[in-house]
Amino acid sequence: MDCIFCKIVDQQIPADIVLEDDQLIAFRDINPQAPTHLLIVPRRHIATLNDLDSDDSALISHLCLTAIRLAGELGIADSGYRLVWNCNAQGGQDVFHIHLHLFGGRNMHWPPG
Ligand code: AMP
Repeated sequence: MDCIFCKIVDQQIPADIVLEDDQLIAFRDINPQAPTHLLIVPRRHIATLNDLDSDDSALISHLCLTAIRLAGELGIADSGYRLVWNCNAQGGQDVFHIHLHLFGGRNMHWPPG
């Protein structure tokens, strides 16, 4: 399967990995949009959020709680941060392997552009 995040999970291409466990991997975005910009990615290939079902509730919870924990470890929990999931074309998804963005270290704008 020609999926760039599967290749990072399988260590076929490098990434700046900050945390990994049996279910997920977290690494720095190659084109950061904020001083802190991480991607929290399940090891299992799931193309879009639309492919999730109720069996995945523990996995999604684990991804979210890991992002929150990383925000604390990286010192942005109190200043504030943003978690973003993009889905499909109008949601701004470019990589079709679900991932949670963790942004921090600057003021975030709302609504997003
Ligand atoms: P999205 O638009 O939500 O699909 O976000 C995909 C993100 O993956 C973008 O922010 C890219 O900069 C990032 N990205 C793409 N390739 C890599 C890579 N090899 N290593 C780290 N981040 C990447």
